[in-house]
Amino acid sequence: MMDFHCHLDLYPDARFLYAKAQAEMEFLWLVTTSPRAFAATSVILPATDRIMVSPGLHPEVADKKVSELDLLLEQMRHVGAVGEVGLDGSARYKHTFETQQRVFSAVVQRAEELGGRLLSIHSRAAAPQVLSTLQQHAGFGTAVLHWFTDSAPQLRLAASLGCWFSVGPAMLKSSNGRKLVSIMPKDRIVPESDGPFGMTHGKPIFPWEASGIVTQISKAWDSPVDVVREILRDNGKRLINTARAYPI
Ligand code: MN
Repeated sequence: MMDFHCHLDLYPDARFLYAKAQAEMEFLWLVTTSPRAFAATSVILPATDRIMVSPGLHPEVADKKVSELDLLLEQMRHVGAVGEVGLDGSARYKHTFETQQRVFSAVVQRAEELGGRLLSIHSRAAAPQVLSTLQQHAGFGTAVLHWFTDSAPQLRLAASLGCWFSVGPAMLKSSNGRKLVSIMPKDRIVPESDGPFGMTHGKPIFPWEASGIVTQISKAWDSPVDVVREILRDNGKRLINTARAYPI
């Protein structure tokens, strides 16, 4: 079981889930929403051989946390992966878009300066701006677009730029989500929970439930569940190796 986008630090019983993930899961990517949260979380829930913990600056809090940007750029020197970062152009956050863009551009530029990083990226209602920022810094590393909800043409553009996609059970509840998954490159999809924000059965999803996408993807691809499981596992291993190969 693998989960490539989980806010494990935001569950009420984070320590318990962390111990369970460490014992039972093959891999978990713990993304944080601010540089200070990363610093605090790394002490309580430290990175292990199978739990990757990354500093981020979530676009929804970009205006409140922009003063932490320098800290993030410093933290990025010491880790192969960064997230959650990105842009959110939805009605609720569009008024902070300029600040969001300043933060995100600085992060992508820093990733390029450092020789590449693995980025977990939020792109709600902002896929064109996310992709054009990535294009401006070609050596930034590898982008994983998390819970991608834009159009099929934007998805094809992202795929042509080499982006990966992390997909969760919550995304596959919508018909647009299922349609998008059917056109994603099969060798660049990995599971995510986005817990505790991702929900399943009306409750916050657990990280090990991210693999629930296997059943739905097998329908979308018309492939046996076992085949899909192996493809996702193989994808996951390649992506983990990518993060570990960046110079830190
Ligand atoms: Mn998230």
